[in-house]
Amino acid sequence: MIYDDGFAMDVNLRVTQCPKCGNEQFSNEAEFCRICGVSLYNLCEGEDIYDYNGKFDHHEEHKNSGNARFCEKCGRPTYFFKEAFLLPYDDVREEYVERYLKANPTAISGNTVMVLTGVSDDNDDLPF
Ligand SMILES: [Zn+2]
Ligand SMILES: [Zn+2]
Repeated sequence: MIYDDGFAMDVNLRVTQCPKCGNEQFSNEAEFCRICGVSLYNLCEGEDIYDYNGKFDHHEEHKNSGNARFCEKCGRPTYFFKEAFLLPYDDVREEYVERYLKANPTAISGNTVMVLTGVSDDNDDLPF
């Protein structure tokens, strides 16, 4: 499935509309919303980078796409997720399954739900 609940972004991974207040007016250099102050980038918490002597060098944050709950580079939570602009994936998946079953009423079977959720409560056919 595709988590299509993210926020639209430009080529620089900056949102085209503020995820909190809906403002669409940004200057070219803007990093924060001028109306409500939130970050226009879905940055991760970041990781501390140490040099080869084990000495702290710098803190590195990564830009992520509009539906990223966790950073694809370091695995840490993203800003949009921590601010609850994005819901946890299992909430979204549940909604997706409900929407799918409503749109495809004839598809209601244990198998469909299993395929969609990766979970099956139908263990009758197990050979052990
Ligand atoms: Zn805003
Ligand atoms: Zn990261």
